Amino acid sequence: MKIVKKIEEVKSYIKAWKTEGDTVGFVLTMGYLHEGHQSLINRAAENDRIVVSIFVNPMQFGPKEDLASYPRDLDRDSKLCEENGVDLIFYPEPEEMYAPDFCSYVDMSVLTEELCGQSRPVHFRGVCTVVSKLFNIVTPDRAYFGEKDAQQLAIIRRMVRDLNFNVEIIGCPIIREKDGLAKSSRNTYLSKEERKAALVLSRSIEHGKKILQQGERNAAVLIDAMKDYIATEPLARIDYLKAVDAFSMQPVDELKGATLVAMAVFIGKTRLIDNFVFENNI
Ligand code: AMP
Repeated sequence: MKIVKKIEEVKSYIKAWKTEGDTVGFVLTMGYLHEGHQSLINRAAENDRIVVSIFVNPMQFGPKEDLASYPRDLDRDSKLCEENGVDLIFYPEPEEMYAPDFCSYVDMSVLTEELCGQSRPVHFRGVCTVVSKLFNIVTPDRAYFGEKDAQQLAIIRRMVRDLNFNVEIIGCPIIREKDGLAKSSRNTYLSKEERKAALVLSRSIEHGKKILQQGERNAAVLIDAMKDYIATEPLARIDYLKAVDAFSMQPVDELKGATLVAMAVFIGKTRLIDNFVFENNI
């Protein structure tokens, strides 16, 4: 397995592989890898070659966010990648990705305006820009994204369609801890007490699904019930909790077609996200 820091070097490996006729699967991460990332890597094994990028992208962090404290551990990540058949880790420094006079951005309207886009105004511009750059560098046949970041997945699918990127986007299910907490690199920020409190996210989802099972289809009723449930946890503070159309990310009044029910909740200072998609199939 190669660990490569330079763009030109990545390109030359990819070129050699493609000359051989190999297909390339790509998993984009910010590192501190866990079983969620691993599930994407394992899915990418349907390609001849697997590339993983590890890059904590400064452009997608707001000034008051956790860029500096975001957990990093290349040795641990390399081991996980090696054990899971990764061929190449692309691990660039920010200076390699962004020239000092960098001034080109990929921006999107509509889908970025709700949910995380409201709480993190610069986030999706940073995501779309870096994902575009990484797609241009790696030119993968397929790229794998987790449904944990459901809005990001919808945005990347739309960007690929709108801008004609030559890559197939594969969405992968949310991987959870045994007790239900969605795996996340940010879970490492949680104290013991907060770790327990964090269960309120996945449990509120179970609560919401039960309400839907009983036949409720009114979004406000569902969301209020889930919010009330979260309010029972004193360490939790809701950033947002909304039901949106799963493709346009626009709020819905009734759960009719595919609907994303998504939340961001602060547990202490740690902001966690979780979601489920309702397709009249619960
Ligand atoms: P991150 O390193 O958090 O930027 O995540 C990199 C990729 O892994 C994204 O496509 C995430 O959606 C995906 N991912 C992160 N956590 C999980 C999880 N618990 N289950 C499935 N995919 C995940």
